[in-house]
Amino acid sequence: MRRFSGDKLVIASHNKGKLREISALVAPFGVTAIPVTDFGLEEPEETEDTFVGNARIKAHFAARETGLPALSDDSGIMVDALDGAPGVYTADWAETPAGRDFPMAMKKVWDLLEAKHAPEPRTAHFCATLCLAWPDGHDEIFEGRVSGRLVWPMRGERGFGFDPVFLPDGETETFGEMDPARKHAMSHRAEAFAKLVAGCFA
Ligand code: IMP
Repeated sequence: MRRFSGDKLVIASHNKGKLREISALVAPFGVTAIPVTDFGLEEPEETEDTFVGNARIKAHFAARETGLPALSDDSGIMVDALDGAPGVYTADWAETPAGRDFPMAMKKVWDLLEAKHAPEPRTAHFCATLCLAWPDGHDEIFEGRVSGRLVWPMRGERGFGFDPVFLPDGETETFGEMDPARKHAMSHRAEAFAKLVAGCFA
């Protein structure tokens, strides 16, 4: 496992919610997170059908183009009664000509569950795959997940993406209602990040 040295890490994501979360996670290690957008780079196309495949595309592209180590996150929500959908296509389900519309995507998921008369609880899990890539082509991969169930209607204005409909196991608040610090302590990304820290930073 290669250790991270240096004080700059490019965050290979255009998603503001993820940028916020990852910056807060690396700050205690004296690492400044620089969004890939600061380099004026376009987002590469995510052509793989796995989280790890797409995480690799994004991190290697950013590391190669900037000459700095880069961290990417590919994540999504997998709904059991929908055979794991939307999964790697979570963001795609929110696409509209006017930009991403997550309330619309959450309603689409709920409507599909209703149409199937899927039994309660409507179990789901968030998955996150982190890829830390270096300009020389080396990478390290870390994965995490958090299990829960979907609720309707949406609850809470905090967080992003599918947070308002996801109730983690053992909790009374959705990720959309929860204090962000609490979410960061238990999320799929937190688990993957803990593995990254143990492997490359600690
Ligand atoms: P991508 O990894 O950028 O392709 O997008 C993954 C999508 O999954 C995001 O746009 C969110 O909608 C969703 N997602 C991933 N992690 C979270 C989370 O922590 N909360 C809510 N939605 C998430």
